[in-house]
Amino acid sequence: MSRHGKVPWPIRLSVMPMSYRFDSSLRLPALLMAALAVGGVAGAFVDAPLAGVTVVALAEIVVLLSRIRHRNRPMMATARAEADPQYDRLMTRTRRIASQLRDLRSAAGTLPDAVVLLDQARHVRWFNHAAEELLGLRRPTDRSRDLLDVLRNSELADWLTEGAREPLNDVTAPGRPNRHISVTLLPFGSRQRLLLARDTSHLTRLEQIRRDFVANVSHELRTPLTVIHGYLELLDPEDIPELASVIDEMRIQSKRMGQIVEDLLTLSRLETQDHVAEEQVQMTPLLATLRKEAEALSQGRHKIALEGSIATDILGSPKDLHSAFSNLVSNAVRYTPTGGRIDIRWERTAHGATFSVKDSGFGIPASHIARLTERFYRVSSSRSRDSGGTGLGLSIVKHVLNLHQARLEIDSEPGQGSTFACVFGTERLLDPERAHDLHLHG
Ligand code: ADP
Repeated sequence: MSRHGKVPWPIRLSVMPMSYRFDSSLRLPALLMAALAVGGVAGAFVDAPLAGVTVVALAEIVVLLSRIRHRNRPMMATARAEADPQYDRLMTRTRRIASQLRDLRSAAGTLPDAVVLLDQARHVRWFNHAAEELLGLRRPTDRSRDLLDVLRNSELADWLTEGAREPLNDVTAPGRPNRHISVTLLPFGSRQRLLLARDTSHLTRLEQIRRDFVANVSHELRTPLTVIHGYLELLDPEDIPELASVIDEMRIQSKRMGQIVEDLLTLSRLETQDHVAEEQVQMTPLLATLRKEAEALSQGRHKIALEGSIATDILGSPKDLHSAFSNLVSNAVRYTPTGGRIDIRWERTAHGATFSVKDSGFGIPASHIARLTERFYRVSSSRSRDSGGTGLGLSIVKHVLNLHQARLEIDSEPGQGSTFACVFGTERLLDPERAHDLHLHG
């Protein structure tokens, strides 16, 4: 489509009859040949001068027609449009579609998000201005090149090579190293793909402010709480019996606040970490400790068993894994009524090993399961508070597992009980031989 809204030549041609589509460079000689043939045939029947006149006359007509058609093509198109309402409608539709295409292209061009159109072979077909800014694509050199070669960022390249099934968040923008982007790859058409990248620097900054705020508040609260708790411990309820119940309640609450502050500080620390220490986490003594902790918390109200323990250790942070496993064990005790059963397991699976805690407790309705690892999310606030919960235990578990490339699986049936399983991949496992090698070389 031309700039002035005229219908482009190929489109006009396509609606003309066959004779018009014939290549103009061949048309004139062909017609002349035809004229000669006619002249020749005529010459055989009539006298030669007549044949000559026929040829010349036909040639004249052809040249004339050709000139008229070339000079007055728009006029002919208009004339045709007048004669043919279908042609007119087609032209209007073509103009509208072309104008919509132009609008779409210019809208995509000015989007603040980077848009890159890829063909089946992942070659760059088109990209907008934001793609130059955020992804560092260059015009025209990066056109038709494999996206993998033009994205100058190893994290993005790995993500693409691995299939880019999930969006990738919080990556440094290749075109602007001080900015962060999130990227998505969307399939469309016949195996084409659209790469979208959005500048999320402001969200990263807000998230950082939130983290700092929580960490600072928790830190600031720690000292006054320790002081209050210390004074409450000094008070003897027997000296002031009329306030005995008040003192007891104040002690419980100050201890709870202290626990919340400690959990918030733990979460802040885990959030700012992007990897954990790679130490040997000895599972046999850890499992024994967890069992003792469960028994201490249960005070004989539950049957606690250590099942199917294997001689495999984990490579990671002993302190953090103890804290995560301990949260699961403590939840099992707290959310299982007296007389219930709790099984702690450490077992080998097809793809690694799983630490699990199974209880015969209250269970959790399915609608809550997806949100359990959010901070302060509780199925029942009163039950959580009464049992001394902070609402942060499972958030801590999730963060610790993420740092160990492990995941939390929750299976629960209301009224029947729950199983919380920490699933580790083989790369985190230390079988006795590997642990031995680690000691020799570590
Ligand atoms: P809390 O300190 O409240 O226990 P968590 O983050 O550890 O916080 O757990 C979040 C919520 O998940 C709990 O409030 C509780 O409702 C539910 N929950 C966790 N573990 C269990 C369990 N073993 N059985 C039933 N509900 C559980």
